[in-house]
Amino acid sequence: MNRLIWIDGQLLPRLEARVSVFDHGLLYGDGVFEGIRQYNGRILRLDAHLKRLFDSAKAIRLDIPLTAADLGRAIEETIKANHLTDCYIRVVITRGVGPLGISPSGCLKPTIIIIADTISLYPAEMYESGMAIITAATPRISTAALSPKIKSLNYLNNIMAKWEAIDAGVPEAVMLNQQGFVCECTADNIFITRGGKLITPPEESGILMGVTRGIVLELAEKEGLTAMQQNLTRYDLYTADECFLTGTGAEIIPVTSIDKRKIGSGAAGDITRRLIAAFHEFVRRN
Ligand code: PMP
Repeated sequence: MNRLIWIDGQLLPRLEARVSVFDHGLLYGDGVFEGIRQYNGRILRLDAHLKRLFDSAKAIRLDIPLTAADLGRAIEETIKANHLTDCYIRVVITRGVGPLGISPSGCLKPTIIIIADTISLYPAEMYESGMAIITAATPRISTAALSPKIKSLNYLNNIMAKWEAIDAGVPEAVMLNQQGFVCECTADNIFITRGGKLITPPEESGILMGVTRGIVLELAEKEGLTAMQQNLTRYDLYTADECFLTGTGAEIIPVTSIDKRKIGSGAAGDITRRLIAAFHEFVRRN
């Protein structure tokens, strides 16, 4: 599909949308990004995504040369130019072109890219039957080194864990923090249920504060479920009644085995199914 890509204010055919080899986003992974989704002609939680993007940029001292409103309009423009009604939007903001050497001080203008396209992260049948995951030996990097709340262009830590999943023949891996508590998967947040209660690791465990995670917590409340944000161990995962992952790309996907331990009955659980149904209803109307 010959999509039009928004790059530094211009909409260009995909083969003409290029960045410089001197862009520090490429040379050093110096930049931030967002993954956003549009359902039924409307963007889901655009404000929350823009807030996270601007906070990520602020945290790495990158001044985005557009207001959030302008960027929101550029996103809408990109979607419209591609005639999309249900799509995935990737916004990338790099430090921009600069001299060799990691110093960001010579990068005078951030590069801004908006891609709108379709996405399917996992095979459709996994949303019914659930997926097997493993625990990665690669821990999440220390929050003191780089906050996982920053959605930066540095995904190598997660990619190393993803390799472990690929080697184990499963689609995802759960990562633990420096204390050995459960954080999140390589690109999704994680939830379990136990005794009818929903539990997900807290902000302090060192996670990306997922927009989908937030929506699931809201939906759980509407569904009358008790939801808790608590540290989890691998034992808690292995002995959970149900488990599922959340993310903009992944939406809500059931997990039915972890490190070869069957979760609950080994099928997508009732609470997971209820939340998936509530999520689809919610995004349809949002
Ligand atoms: N954790 C990580 C590491 C992620 O990259 C993502 C986004 N793909 C998530 C969690 C889920 O966040 P969101 O629901 O905002 O997409």
